Amino acid sequence: MEAWRRQLEDPVRAFPIVKAGPAHIATLKTYDPPLSALEGRRLEGVERRAKRLLLPTDDGELVLLVHLMTAGRLRYLRAGEDGPKTPAFRLEFEGGSKLVLTEAGAKKRAGVWLLTPEQAQAELAHLGPEAFGLGAERLAAICASESRRLHSLLRDQKAIAGIGRAWANEILHAAQLSPYALTRDLDEAELGRLGGAIDSELARGLELRERGANDKKTYRVHNKLGEPCHVCGTPIARVDFEEHTIYYCPDCQTGGRTLKDRRLSRLLR
Ligand SMILES: [Zn+2]
Repeated sequence: MEAWRRQLEDPVRAFPIVKAGPAHIATLKTYDPPLSALEGRRLEGVERRAKRLLLPTDDGELVLLVHLMTAGRLRYLRAGEDGPKTPAFRLEFEGGSKLVLTEAGAKKRAGVWLLTPEQAQAELAHLGPEAFGLGAERLAAICASESRRLHSLLRDQKAIAGIGRAWANEILHAAQLSPYALTRDLDEAELGRLGGAIDSELARGLELRERGANDKKTYRVHNKLGEPCHVCGTPIARVDFEEHTIYYCPDCQTGGRTLKDRRLSRLLR
């Protein structure tokens, strides 16, 4: 998301908006203020909060909030550049350039909200602190606050904002921790490794994205079932947990043990 933000920051503020919309009915989540309220205004740039992009107007009166979910893509098209016929959402700027949101697949999950600054603040209030730069001390406090499995904690935007399922896999591998390890069982050294891995993996991801790397090149563990671990060569394993698929190295992370599908083992118990 940070790579997206940097890419869009300059283009979106170059010209005022002449036309806001159309928007797919499932994509636009708000109707007051109306989208047309954006017309004639200029965006100030792009900010990021966890996985949401915020595009405030330069008069400070409105905030366009975009959540791409998994399949949404936000693109800036220069004047005359070909774009999708029916984007999920579109902004047109003076001079003909456009910002378009597209979403692969039939299910529309990405969302666009047009909010006042107060509404935006309320919308974001439930998010936890940003993952990057969290530091071992705050991480220790978060881990101590409730006992739960690490993979689930890392994905929970209310606890720590900004880590999705793929990066939870990458981070836990870099920290040499089991995805099933319980937050309260971590010792000081493990907390230190986890804090370090959050920063180093998110920084690595950002750098690769900025160089244009795709998922296959960016991830080293996520979606790599059966491929050799880049540290020890053991084939990467996977397990289903809470509607998510976890990828991990049984040698680096779980002391050689294979993790059990929690849903299945619950049925068999
Ligand atoms: Zn390994």
